[in-house]
Amino acid sequence: MNIAIDGPAGAGKSTIARRVAAELGSIYVDTGAMYRAMALYMIKNGVDAEDPAAIERTCEDAEISIRYQDGMQHVYLNGEDVTGQLRTEEVGNMASKSSACRRVREKLVELQQKLAETTSVVMDGRDIGTVVLPKAELKIYLTASAHTRALRRFQELAEKAKESEDENAVLPDLAEIEKDIEERDYRDMHRENSPLMQAEDAVVVDSSDLTIEEVTNCILKLAAQRKHTS
Ligand code: C5P
Repeated sequence: MNIAIDGPAGAGKSTIARRVAAELGSIYVDTGAMYRAMALYMIKNGVDAEDPAAIERTCEDAEISIRYQDGMQHVYLNGEDVTGQLRTEEVGNMASKSSACRRVREKLVELQQKLAETTSVVMDGRDIGTVVLPKAELKIYLTASAHTRALRRFQELAEKAKESEDENAVLPDLAEIEKDIEERDYRDMHRENSPLMQAEDAVVVDSSDLTIEEVTNCILKLAAQRKHTS
């Protein structure tokens, strides 16, 4: 059984998808990490985020692959494990731009479809239910208000700053995070190639007022129903 989870940044897709996969004994595939690895390659090569032609050209030299170690997804960029370098704001912002390029998407969609061919997956991203796995047995569109998503990100960053015990650590600005999230949503939803949208047959889950457990249980219940009727 393949499960597709799409939705905007910060809706909790990866946390939820990881839990659902663990419960079902499926593989969790984080496609955002693949777009981030491609973005990292652009940054390392000094490519301008506003130059689509340069992005198209440069992505031909980036070989992205996935390996699983102790059940965790590791992303390799031209043979190097770059998993630990992907979750920065810089990489996220570049990913939101480089992912709009047709050739970048073609390369990564092919890799994602191959992964789902031989094993049951829970895959999260922006175009999984619409483009990558149009025949997925269950499609979820996981969303939350921009304000809720910004607040979650703010708390995460504030926690990190506290843990770093660095007296000079700059506290994140909530309004700025919310603006960033809204801009990223806009880019993801309005790009020409595979914009973020809800698949016709997706179930919408709004996580604004739900806990992680509640969302996970809701998806597991839907998965059990689909299994029963298939
Ligand atoms: O989900 P995450 O924040 O890691 O994704 C980073 C960026 O990669 C997103 O803003 C989006 O532009 C892009 N992406 C995409 N299609 C996917 C997954 C991610 O375009 N399936």
